Amino acid sequence: MKKLLIIHTGGTIAMSEDPETGAVKPNPANPLHNVLKAVDDIELMAEDFLNVPSPHMTPAHMVHLAKRIDKRVMEEKIDGVVVTHGTDTLEETAYMLDLILETEIPVVVTGAMRSSNELGSDGPYNLYSSIRAAASSEARNKGVLVVLNDEIHTAKNVTKTHTSNIATFQSPQYGPIGIVSKRGIHFHHHPVTAPRFVVPSVQKKVLLLKAAAGMEAELIEAICSTPLDGLIIEAFGQGNLPPATIDAFKSLIDRGVPIVLVSRCFNGVVQDVYGYEGGGRQLKELGMIFTNGLNGQKARLKLMVALEKTSDRERLQEIFNQ
Ligand code: ASP
Repeated sequence: MKKLLIIHTGGTIAMSEDPETGAVKPNPANPLHNVLKAVDDIELMAEDFLNVPSPHMTPAHMVHLAKRIDKRVMEEKIDGVVVTHGTDTLEETAYMLDLILETEIPVVVTGAMRSSNELGSDGPYNLYSSIRAAASSEARNKGVLVVLNDEIHTAKNVTKTHTSNIATFQSPQYGPIGIVSKRGIHFHHHPVTAPRFVVPSVQKKVLLLKAAAGMEAELIEAICSTPLDGLIIEAFGQGNLPPATIDAFKSLIDRGVPIVLVSRCFNGVVQDVYGYEGGGRQLKELGMIFTNGLNGQKARLKLMVALEKTSDRERLQEIFNQ
């Protein structure tokens, strides 16, 4: 019989709605423990690691979670892990695990859009599907997976796309890599996986900014006067920025602060295509680092992790090409 570890961190999946006020709040006792009793062909162990709404999660929590998973997997015979999590930052925790976990056993992250006592609550079903996915031998070597609403996504590509719909998790451009059906777990794509980075902690301060038409240079100038180790800028389209901001970005680069360029578009990659002022060619010449399709919040985590290994710009660019 397969043996799985379920690690709870909180989120709506573990919350209940107050029938009087309608407020959705954390529970003192985790309602998900009852769901586990319904699985009889897989041995399950559960750990309440955290009980927080996911907007309270930090990169430090994510690293502790990764270390906890690696420790348990090293000490016990475990075939797969399921992490339950709030959906707001689920993609970030899943991606951080994908970057730094040492274990190669299947790790699946799941959550819910409706709390445990709401009509049509999706938590128990998502947890059950995730358990089955994590127990599948085919889930190995595919990186950390995210399973909700009958779909299996990679941590790298998945993102929350809707504030309340249960079909919120999508992988723009690539789609899910598998589905969950009544009869089993079916993978229809094999993702390209990237090398992992073993880091003891993440200490670097990396900020995330989004470009907007006519973006004020003052914002970047204000950032220039604060201590920071790196910056992610969500640029326009293929990777272009308003000309008024360029001098301020240049002074950050001159100070040795790596700037990683991602796109506000959720499909495609950034490239040095445009030759006008603020266009991708100028940004490349300035020394900005181009990404290969990661969104801003995931590029921030990747830069935090990469900076624990190197601050060399060429090496950082190689890491962001992977
Ligand atoms: N705000 C909640 C959280 O992220 C939403 C959810 O769990 O789906 O914890």
